[in-house]
Amino acid sequence: MHAKLPDVGTTIFAVMSKMAADHNAINLSQGFPDFPISAQLISLVQEGMRQGMNQYAPMPGLPMLREAIAQKLADTYGVTCDPETEITVTAGGTQALHATFTALVNPGDEVIIFDPAYDSYDPVVRINQGRPVHLQLKPPNFSINWDEVEATVTKKTKALVINTPHNPSGAVLSHDDMLRLSKIVTANNLYLISDEVYEHIIFDNLSHNSALKYPDLRARAIAIYSFGKTFHATGWKTGYMVAPPEITTELRKMHQFTVFCANTPIQYGITKYLEDGDHYSYLSGFYQAKRDEFATIMAQTRLTPVPCHGTYFQLYSYENISDMHDVEMAEWLTKEHKVATIPASVFYARGENIKYLRFCFAKATETMEKAAELLCKI
Ligand code: PMP
Ligand code: GLN
Repeated sequence: MHAKLPDVGTTIFAVMSKMAADHNAINLSQGFPDFPISAQLISLVQEGMRQGMNQYAPMPGLPMLREAIAQKLADTYGVTCDPETEITVTAGGTQALHATFTALVNPGDEVIIFDPAYDSYDPVVRINQGRPVHLQLKPPNFSINWDEVEATVTKKTKALVINTPHNPSGAVLSHDDMLRLSKIVTANNLYLISDEVYEHIIFDNLSHNSALKYPDLRARAIAIYSFGKTFHATGWKTGYMVAPPEITTELRKMHQFTVFCANTPIQYGITKYLEDGDHYSYLSGFYQAKRDEFATIMAQTRLTPVPCHGTYFQLYSYENISDMHDVEMAEWLTKEHKVATIPASVFYARGENIKYLRFCFAKATETMEKAAELLCKI
């Protein structure tokens, strides 16, 4: 068989979660909460099933969910989005990203990606015969050098991908960043893929600068969201993408032939939950407390944190402990010390070994304490 992605193996999230299970390690690798989700939300999904919401949903998503999402976008960002022509419910953020790259990228198109980056961007650009162009975000701030971006744009550049709050670094784009970005996108007629799945997990009184809030970006952006992150239910794989009507038409052509539609009873339950009130504004405070709690517990270890302003991930440098490559280090920690993490180099196209490990702090206090106790021994 002629492999489309000969250099790609199994995603690190699957590898590390399996290694954690195989070695009975505490799993701080793949990003998912280990505490229960809302009982009310579960009841609402059950209600949907009992009411017969068990067949295909309309291809772009249940109309009532798209309306509830439009209301949420209006409440959160003060933007008006047409549920009929601009919002599409997807099987999670990852599927939205797949539909987006597949709709936008033609052979030879360049897509600018900032490393470290979520691992699906690069391969999906390449599946579509596009050329990912990787720029490096430098520790410890992981900020974007916009002059470098300007110098990197060519006639072949089709799109640029941003992710704020940023996985894995926890960096957040500022209003000034968005203005610089706006200028570049408009001047070069680019598309913007704005991965905002951590929109509600942002700390230190910062606010999320959604691409949808900037009219020039709004006209060229596909913004991507995940209810998995927002409602602690990553296994439900439900999210959505927002884009102007002419882009949405193309996105839906891809969406309809990958999954056709997202899961119906979950769409029903989420609609009712959204209609019930604001179940997301508390998240920043909730996860900021977890970040701080994790930092306090981890202060007893020899690992050094990188400042984190959003997401539920924290990078730690292990330079005081070892010279090992981070992939080797993560494996050693999982097998020998029973704590699983993600090596940061996997977020780099060239696998740069920056000697950081990513820890997920979307965990119960008990889990964090147990992990820190084990890590104190190294
Ligand atoms: N983008 C980023 C940056 C992520 O961390 C994730 C987490 N999986 C996703 C997209 C995809 O979200 P989902 O789980 O809804 O597919
Ligand atoms: N976004 C999650 C993370 O960064 C994992 C997503 C996945 O497992 N594909 O850990």
